[in-house]
Amino acid sequence: MYPNLRVLSRVLPATLGCLGIAACSTPAMRTNASRAAIEVASIQHPHEETAQWWFRSGAAAAAANASSRAQAKNVIVFVGDGMSIATISAARILDGQRKGGSGEENRLAFETFPAGALIRTYETDQQTPDSAGTMTAIMSGIKTRAGVIGIDQAATRGDCASGRGHEVVTALELAAQAGLSTGVVTTTRITHATPAATYGHLPERDWEYDMAIPQRERDAGCVDFARQLVEFPFGGGINVALGGGRTGFMPAEQRDPEYPGLPGKRLDGRDLLAEWQQKDGAAYVWNAQQLAAIDPARTRHLLGLFEPEHMNYENERAQDPAGEPSLAEMTRMALSVLRKNPDGYFLMVEGGRIDHGHHAGNAYRALNETIEFARAVQVANEMTAADDTLILVTADHSHTLTFAGYPARGNPILGKVRGSSGEGLPSGDLARDATGLPYATLAYANGPGYAGASDRQPEGAKQYPHEATAFSAARKGRPNLAEVDTEHPDHEQEATMPLGAETHGGDDVAAFARGPGSAAVRGSMEQNALFHVIAQSNDAIRTQLCKLGACNADGVPVDAPEMGKARQARFKRRADARVKKGSRAEPWWRGKVDSDPTFSRLAGGSTR
Ligand SMILES: [Zn+2]
Repeated sequence: MYPNLRVLSRVLPATLGCLGIAACSTPAMRTNASRAAIEVASIQHPHEETAQWWFRSGAAAAAANASSRAQAKNVIVFVGDGMSIATISAARILDGQRKGGSGEENRLAFETFPAGALIRTYETDQQTPDSAGTMTAIMSGIKTRAGVIGIDQAATRGDCASGRGHEVVTALELAAQAGLSTGVVTTTRITHATPAATYGHLPERDWEYDMAIPQRERDAGCVDFARQLVEFPFGGGINVALGGGRTGFMPAEQRDPEYPGLPGKRLDGRDLLAEWQQKDGAAYVWNAQQLAAIDPARTRHLLGLFEPEHMNYENERAQDPAGEPSLAEMTRMALSVLRKNPDGYFLMVEGGRIDHGHHAGNAYRALNETIEFARAVQVANEMTAADDTLILVTADHSHTLTFAGYPARGNPILGKVRGSSGEGLPSGDLARDATGLPYATLAYANGPGYAGASDRQPEGAKQYPHEATAFSAARKGRPNLAEVDTEHPDHEQEATMPLGAETHGGDDVAAFARGPGSAAVRGSMEQNALFHVIAQSNDAIRTQLCKLGACNADGVPVDAPEMGKARQARFKRRADARVKKGSRAEPWWRGKVDSDPTFSRLAGGSTR
């Protein structure tokens, strides 16, 4: 059935025998243009798609784009959650108009990058995807189903036992195991789908803390994402984790330091914040002032959790009681900690609340979050060099925001259309629909901005926050926007179909890149191929994959690595680290392997 078995049989015996041994030689990657193309089986879609097929086809696509010709020491992946192409266009104009220009000619930081591609986001089971499956594809090179994180499509969502043996190995895990420093930064809960897909494995994205996991699935051995983050078993552990989601790390008996009415969400009694602080060179902070006081030179493991749930939207951040850092400030600190490692680092930064602004039907928040996301990219661009750092900027999926009508050049992007009602000459008058009512440039195909009355707000234009659970059909038709300030930060754009939350979109998203390997980001690409651009452009990650038997004779990772082997390699590595005292990749659990019950549980490895 699989035509590449011949290639497999040539590579596997040679590599299986030297799993995890530091001295084990791995094939150097041939970078000449004559390298043979990677064969990919032609299959029936979707029922013959497997994790292995996705991995190989992603590898073939990246190799065909010659991603291996340049090598990056550091890799930074930026994900604008829900940052559709319409979102980028509108945010660039809003940003440009705030700077006093007409807006259309403005460029967000990543729009200056030399490489770009269109990315297909569908999952193995959904035409329009979610963040769990899409981020798994970006991080592992394997497309999977909606709702599962770090698990391939063979598992059933929400069924702990079905995920066992189907964990996929992520770029962050490979980087950590190879001795790179690693970091995760987000504005959502650090256990939310996008960040969790860098370090975690569960067949249900909602299992962020143990209280959220049904007893039956806990009994089956599934461990929540908060614990997986703190117990991250590869290399020296995650070095930087900044975001929200604090109470998922606190026992139910504890109260939140910023909002004392809120209890922790852990039933197992574990204080994961205290456990983090046991790590070597560890620091834990929960407000902006504490983060600013961190000395990156002395910090090896930095955990910052700035809200009990998601962090505030950027436009509400100033009202936070204890003070919260911006995404750009978190990115700056993360890079300051990570760049101490002479071997390099892997960092993922998510602008996580672009998506939430859209779901709320509120373009202002989605665009404002996108502008802040671009500022974070700007920080990374300035703090790194294009000759040794690959920066990849993309989105996990689209949304239903539309940018339409014929507004005149420089018309306020959140405003009503002033221009023409067709393709005629622009005028300064409000454009009108066929019933004579004005309309705005931005609208949503669905969501809470529908004109009919909801169970929370009367008929007419809607305001954030809304949280509607039911709607009636509009009796008076469209709202008269002549009486509405559509540029107000809380205005909800009109939605054609009423839904409590606006949905994701299934259209392609964009990718932008600069640095070694970026030239491979071009054309129309499947989302899982982005992982392979990273793996083929970073020698540490690629070599680690080769050690796991994933590489072909040309040194290109073409076979999906098995998590079981990755973990074996880890344990072997631990023994190596013990022998070679003071070697650069000393794991945090060194010396407590036999005594620490946490580690014994990990070593037992029932599910993780
Ligand atoms: Zn979403």
